[in-house]
Amino acid sequence: MSTTDTDVYRVQEGTAADLAQRDPADGRLFAGDKEAGSQAMKALNERLEELQDLFYANRSHRLLVVLQATDTGGKDGTISAVFEGVNPLGVKVASFKQPTPLELDHDYLWRVHPHVPGNGEITIFNRSHYEDVLVVRVRELTSEERWRRRFDHIRNFEQMLVDEGTTILKFFLHISKEEQRQRLQDRIDDASKHWKFSMGDLDERKRWDLYQAAYEEAITLTSTTTAPWYVIPANRKWYRNIVIARVLIETLEKLNLKYPPPEADLTGLVVE
Ligand code: AMP
Ligand code: MG
Repeated sequence: MSTTDTDVYRVQEGTAADLAQRDPADGRLFAGDKEAGSQAMKALNERLEELQDLFYANRSHRLLVVLQATDTGGKDGTISAVFEGVNPLGVKVASFKQPTPLELDHDYLWRVHPHVPGNGEITIFNRSHYEDVLVVRVRELTSEERWRRRFDHIRNFEQMLVDEGTTILKFFLHISKEEQRQRLQDRIDDASKHWKFSMGDLDERKRWDLYQAAYEEAITLTSTTTAPWYVIPANRKWYRNIVIARVLIETLEKLNLKYPPPEADLTGLVVE
């Protein structure tokens, strides 16, 4: 690991997320260009693969990775690039879309809890319970009184998961409004990306400022020492991938895992 410090992107508990002051094109943790970046990413992918193998073998810890972003923010791309090469046996992705009628008949955490990781598992939330203080707020799908109470619920829910042995990392993929414009245009112009585009995305884009304000407050109120938010500069995809991979690697390295010992003394044992 180089001398970099991913903490510059971490929102310290009790401080404002300050999204407007954070540059989505920031690149201070990697001096090279895109080419050098993809070389560096290969090494990070390999290291993550090794650490995930140890994590899976130990079955002693659980890791929950929450990914949130505005439309086109790069959640899907992050998952495929950062987790490339890791053993799918130990990594799960849970994507949270518009709630079904059954889900809406329950509290908003009901659909989330069954997907949290078990021992040895890394689970990535592609959107999450945070939608219930983001889109629900912006679209006024419930009263302010009701969604405002959810910040406490979410902090307590996540603290419970941490207390019971889960490590939580939350990433907001921070892109600029101009970058979103380009990515949406690209989805319109490129037939192979039409499936990613929905007319509703244009409507959501009109609410850009409301979403930024909702993210600002949600991140500020729910970034804790034990379940921190990272605001990742995400205009450049390769840089975004490097930073997220580094945070994951640093977190897994801190667990200091070793391969579990054999169940019996294997010295000199020969298979016939
Ligand atoms: P996508 O991630 O592009 O497939 O879109 C999923 C859509 O589901 C997004 O527009 C989200 O805002 C929406 N969504 C996810 N969770 C919720 C929720 N709890 N309430 C309302 N809409 C949601
Ligand atoms: Mg979409």
